[in-house]
Amino acid sequence: MIRDRARLARYRLTAAASLGALAGTLAMTTGAAAAPDLILTNGAIYTLDPAKPWVEAVAIENGHYVALGSSAEVARLADKNTRVIDLGGRMAMPGINDAHAHPVQGAVGQLYSCNFPFTATPDDIAATIAKCVADNPRAEWIIGGQWDSGFFDRFKIDSPRAFLDKVSGNKAVYLSDDSGHNGWVNSRALELAGITAQTPDPASGTIVRLADGSPNGVLLEAANPLVEKVIPPRPPEQLDAAVREAARLANGYGVTGFKDAMVSEPVLAAFQRVDNKGQLTVHAATALLTPYEHRTTPLDVATFVKLRDTYAAPHVHTNFVKVFMDGVPTASRTAAMLEPYVDAEGFPKHYTGMLHVDPDVLKQDMVALDKAGFTVKIHTAGDRSVRVALDAIAAARAANGASDRRHELSHAGYISDADLPRFKSLNAVADLSPYIWSPSPIIDSVVGAVGERGRHYFPVRTLLDIGAPVLAGSDWPSAVPTISPWPGIESMVTRADPTATTPGTLWPEQAVTLAQALHIFTLDGARALRLDDRTGSIVKGKSADLIVLDRHLFRISPADISETQVVLTLFEGKPVHQVAGVLK
Ligand SMILES: [Zn+2]
Repeated sequence: MIRDRARLARYRLTAAASLGALAGTLAMTTGAAAAPDLILTNGAIYTLDPAKPWVEAVAIENGHYVALGSSAEVARLADKNTRVIDLGGRMAMPGINDAHAHPVQGAVGQLYSCNFPFTATPDDIAATIAKCVADNPRAEWIIGGQWDSGFFDRFKIDSPRAFLDKVSGNKAVYLSDDSGHNGWVNSRALELAGITAQTPDPASGTIVRLADGSPNGVLLEAANPLVEKVIPPRPPEQLDAAVREAARLANGYGVTGFKDAMVSEPVLAAFQRVDNKGQLTVHAATALLTPYEHRTTPLDVATFVKLRDTYAAPHVHTNFVKVFMDGVPTASRTAAMLEPYVDAEGFPKHYTGMLHVDPDVLKQDMVALDKAGFTVKIHTAGDRSVRVALDAIAAARAANGASDRRHELSHAGYISDADLPRFKSLNAVADLSPYIWSPSPIIDSVVGAVGERGRHYFPVRTLLDIGAPVLAGSDWPSAVPTISPWPGIESMVTRADPTATTPGTLWPEQAVTLAQALHIFTLDGARALRLDDRTGSIVKGKSADLIVLDRHLFRISPADISETQVVLTLFEGKPVHQVAGVLK
């Protein structure tokens, strides 16, 4: 449980101050040819190497592990230039690899957007927007978020558009929801986008309307790009700052690798610029964005090959593509399901949601992308889109043969029993979102939309038991307030709300062990980044991406995992985050 937010904030502040000093010391002591640069000693170091799961000490030379063993064994390697850090018995482990996040989007949000918490009420939101309008007199747009999935169920607002008009002056307003799939805009935004009562709904998107047919301000799924395309792009220097901030935030929580699950060309260019300056302190895999709209023609794979080859950099791994098949199984009913949703006003009877890409087109895309060497992440929130995506992966395997390209089905919370074994036989990865698989307002919204089967969400234990590969990611800033992996690791083990706000458990039979959860967040994550030969475990020769924790995860109550503080993060052997005064 996260009990002490003030303490957390103080840790973050002191961490930044101490980094400079430690980096300076290291710079003076490098250059020894034979002896290691750095030794971590007297720790409980969890290696993820089954041959040697726990060691006391590691030696690091030029960014890589050169020795592991007992404190005495490793101490013998030191010379006068070796820096030695005494872990004081603390637990250390490989850095976390978050296989599904939107870290640059999250950082842009924190640095530049009009933010309110998921729990905000209509009054809170009105006050926040009014303040952002007053604070930004020259802005044409106010971009912000995020309202939660059940917001318009809980609060009856006759016209969401008119609600925003009252506080937005002459500015256009765009507010994203907690899933990132749905938007809420004011009249000025609709006007700039040219959306009127006469504008038809896009295929696989909905312009929600008032009784007279005029837009009510809520845009579902593929209706969002109609407004997003008229929002001015962010200048490159803001994107560079956001990439640096994303890495800084990630390192603070112990994340040393992430897959950015939806990257446009300007963001890709920012990743490359920041890495070329030596400022990217994570292994970043970038899933190239494909059109987010209903699509009946195959992708032009050559454009992705060109982006991949143009923007690759030492820490920017561009061999990934993202395809959206559907939305979310919440009140918006935008995930493609095999069985109908609970009937609701504004939706057809026995509605089953929508598919963004025609199944035959997805098959052609998967065959071509797989052949070109890409690993594809397919957003599949409903069991129908899961099935369609598995069919497409089967087509790729049939055409191109088996390969190590483990394509991913994102979220995949609902999987038909008939499809479960296909994850193993096709070597397809369920990319799960443990941060939301505990009782919460989001789950209430899901159960309200799909009915009682909504309580059987995320069958991770079943997948592991049948030998299917599994991944996990924060999905931040969707649905979670930070990129911290620790609440997700806790809820994988407990299936309970790590903030202890909502009581109960969600499908507790699917809980996994701590060892399984850590494997998923380290080695399996590295494999998703296609870097498992380089990082994800502590073995000789691998990159020294290591974190030191304030607690021994195997010796505490699982309910305390989410409170974990990372006291030191090493990326390629260099400290990129440290809490002052903890380690000597
Ligand atoms: Zn996502």
